Amino acid sequence: MFGCGQQCPFCKVPCEAGGKTHKQHSAAVHRPQGLGSCRNIHTEKLDETLCTTDVQSEKKFKGTDTEQKWHPYKEYTTYYPDWHIPPDPTKEASDYWKYVLVQYNDKFAQEFKAKPADVPEAWRSITKRQALRGLKEAFNIRGTVSFSSGAAQRLV
Ligand SMILES: [Zn+2]
Ligand SMILES: [Zn+2]
Repeated sequence: MFGCGQQCPFCKVPCEAGGKTHKQHSAAVHRPQGLGSCRNIHTEKLDETLCTTDVQSEKKFKGTDTEQKWHPYKEYTTYYPDWHIPPDPTKEASDYWKYVLVQYNDKFAQEFKAKPADVPEAWRSITKRQALRGLKEAFNIRGTVSFSSGAAQRLV
């Protein structure tokens, strides 16, 4: 664990803001919300959309924080004022998470007792290489990243 230990309320990606004291939590790359155990209430399928996409959509969410009342994603700061989620999906960077979701869809579904996400067909054509390039660009990671299933599980 690095940073302050807080996680995005939707996708559960850890806060990457520097230091222990900052006004707002933020992360460079958000991931499909299904990886944070978010699911579609009707279909029970894991949610494949990114929070950075949903905060600029008309979609709504609910959970224990909203006392199970529907609340627009656009106004997420009502419940999470200390989180800054920019409505700016960086397509290249999220290739990594798309790849992870395609590869481990069933495992995540099992883990969260949900149904696998409907991943768009285009996601299946993302290669390991593209995924790693997106990851490196997002996090400025040098060298090679191992893609064994163990590594992926640690990273998520
Ligand atoms: Zn997020
Ligand atoms: Zn933080």
